[in-house]
Amino acid sequence: MATPLRVLIVEDSEDDAVLVVRHLERAGYAPAHARVQTAADMIAALEAGPWDCVIADYSMPHFSGTDALAIVRSRGMDLPFIIVSGTIGEEVAVAAMKAGAHDYVMKGNLSRLGPALARELRDAADRRERRRVEEERARDLLYDAVTGLPNRTLLLDRLGLAIERAGAPGNLPAALLFVGLGRFHAIVEAWGHRCGDAVLEAVARRLEGNVRAGDTVGRVGETEFAVVLDPVREPGEPARIAEALERALSSPVAAGGQEVSVTPSVGIAPVPGSDRQAGEILRDANTAMHRAMARRTAGGAIFESAMHDRAVARVRLENDLRRALERGELEAGYQPVVSLRDRSLTGFECLARWKHPERGLIGPAEFIPIAEDTGQILPIGAWVLREACMQVRDWGFRRKVVPVAVNLSALQFAQADLADRIRATLVETGADPRSLHLEITESVAMDDAAATIRTLASLKALGVKLKIDDFGTGYSSLSYLHRFPLDALKIDQSFVRRIDTDAEAVEIVRTIVALAHAMSLTVVAEGVETEAHFSGLKALGCDEGQGFLFGGALDARKAEEMLK
Ligand code: C2E
Ligand code: CA
Ligand code: CA
Repeated sequence: MATPLRVLIVEDSEDDAVLVVRHLERAGYAPAHARVQTAADMIAALEAGPWDCVIADYSMPHFSGTDALAIVRSRGMDLPFIIVSGTIGEEVAVAAMKAGAHDYVMKGNLSRLGPALARELRDAADRRERRRVEEERARDLLYDAVTGLPNRTLLLDRLGLAIERAGAPGNLPAALLFVGLGRFHAIVEAWGHRCGDAVLEAVARRLEGNVRAGDTVGRVGETEFAVVLDPVREPGEPARIAEALERALSSPVAAGGQEVSVTPSVGIAPVPGSDRQAGEILRDANTAMHRAMARRTAGGAIFESAMHDRAVARVRLENDLRRALERGELEAGYQPVVSLRDRSLTGFECLARWKHPERGLIGPAEFIPIAEDTGQILPIGAWVLREACMQVRDWGFRRKVVPVAVNLSALQFAQADLADRIRATLVETGADPRSLHLEITESVAMDDAAATIRTLASLKALGVKLKIDDFGTGYSSLSYLHRFPLDALKIDQSFVRRIDTDAEAVEIVRTIVALAHAMSLTVVAEGVETEAHFSGLKALGCDEGQGFLFGGALDARKAEEMLK
C-alpha cells in the first residue's frame, strides 16, 4: 500500500510539479500536495500545514529554493527539504546544502527523488525521536519517576519563588511542610519494591488531595515529601493542613494485594521572604519533622513558630485595619489636660483607639505605626480630625470653649493640601478653629525644618493652635524652633517619669520650661502619673499636665461629664 505523504512543492511550473508527484507515486507514496511559487504563498501554506516534506525548485522568477529554505528555517521547522533543479552546478548545490537543504536532485534524474526522500524522512523521524528522549530526560531531571511529583530540584525552585513573593512588601508569608514516612522500609522488606512504589504513589495522591489548589507537592527524598504552602492567610493554617495530611496518610493503603500503613510525621517551617535560601528552609522543615517524629505530636512541630505567628498576625492586623474605618470600629478617646496651677480642665487630647471585633480594644501605640506603614493613617487621621471637630462644635454649642488636640502623623503633615483639607473639615463641621489644637512630634517637625515653617504658617492662618509633641526626644534646632509659629511644647513623658528620681531629668525639664517661656509658649507635661510628678512639675513652672494622675482617655460621653 502506498505511504501517505503531505508534500509542499515550491515550483513555478505546474508541469514540473506534476512530474515530481508522478515520481513520488512511482516510489510508493500517495502524495497530497500543494504548489506555491511566492514567499507569501509559502508562508500561508506552512501555516496551514502540517507537511511531511518540502520539495523546491532552485530558481524561479519571483522566488528561489534558498529563500524557501530560509522561511522554513526561520520558523524553526525541521522538515526534510529537497531541492529539485534543472540547472544546478556543484557550487550552488554545496551552498544549498550548507544553508540547510537536506539533498538535491537534478530534474533529469528524478528517479533519485524517491530513495533520497525516504532517507530524509527516516532521518527526520530519528531527529524527532531524539528530541522526545531529550525532553523526557529533562522531565526526569525535574520530576520523580515513581510518583510523577516535582523532585527536589523543582521543589527547591518553587520554594525560591515563594520566598521571593513573600518578601515583596504587603505580601502574605508562605510556609513549607516536610512529610516523612515511618515504617516504609519495613513495608519494602516485607512486601517488596513494587508494593513500596504503590505506597509512594498513593501517598503522593493523598498529599495532592489534601493541600490547596496552587500549593506545590514534591518528593524530596526516598521517603520524604515537601509541600510549599503559598500564601499562608492565617496563623493556624499551616498547622491545620499539616494535621489534615497526617490524618490522610495514616489510613491504610491497598498496595499489591496488601493493606499497609505508614506513620507520617509533618514538620513546618515558615517561609519568611527574607535572605534565607530555599535549601536552609527545607532543612528547617526537615528538623521540625524529626522533632515531630520523636514526639509523634499531631499538627507538626512548629519551627520558630512565634516568629512565624507574629508575621502572620501583623499581616492580618494590616488587613483588618483596612476595614476598620468602614466598619465603624475606630473610636475617639479624650484625655483631659489640666492646669498645674489649680488642676482645672484646660482641654483634651483626642486619641484614636480600635475596638477590634475579636481582639478587643487595641491602643494606638500598636496600630498607628502599622497605619503609618500602610498609608492607612491618611483616612484614619482625616476621620479622627472630623470626630474631634464635631466634638468641639458640640461643646461650642453649650458655650464652652474646650480645646481638643489632634495628632498629625508624618504622612499627613507631608500632604501638600493639608491646610485646605483641615479648613474644609472645620467649615463642614462648624467647629471654632481656636478650639482645634494640632500636634506634630519634634522629629517630624525637624525632619525638613524649612518645609515645616511653611506648613505651620498655612495651618496657623486657619486660626488653629499648634503644639510640638514628644519634645526633648528629637534634635531641635533652636533657630528653627524660634521661627515655627507655635503655641505650646509638650514635654515627652520619658523626662516627666524620671523627674522625682533623676537630677538630669529635672535639669532638662527646667531648660525646656525656660526655653518655652522665652518664646512665649505654653509648656505641657505628658505622662503625669503621681503627686510627686505633679508637685515637681509645678515647682519647675510647667503650665499644664496630662497623665493618668488626672485620667486616661475617656469616651466622648465621660469627657462631657467632666466638663460639668
Ligand atoms: P502621644 O501623642 O504622645 O499621646 C500620649 C500617649 O501617652 C497616649 O498613648 C496616652 O494614653 C499616653 N499617656 C497619657 N497619660 C499617660 C501617663 O500618665 N502615663 C503613661 N505611661 N502614658 C500616658 P496612646 O493612647 O497609646 O497613644 C500613643 C500614641 O499614638 C500617641 O502618642 C500618638 O502619637 C499616637 N496617636 C494616638 N491617636 C492618634 C491619632 O489619632 N493620629 C495620630 N497620627 N497619632 C495618634
Ligand atoms: Ca500627642
Ligand atoms: Ca506625646
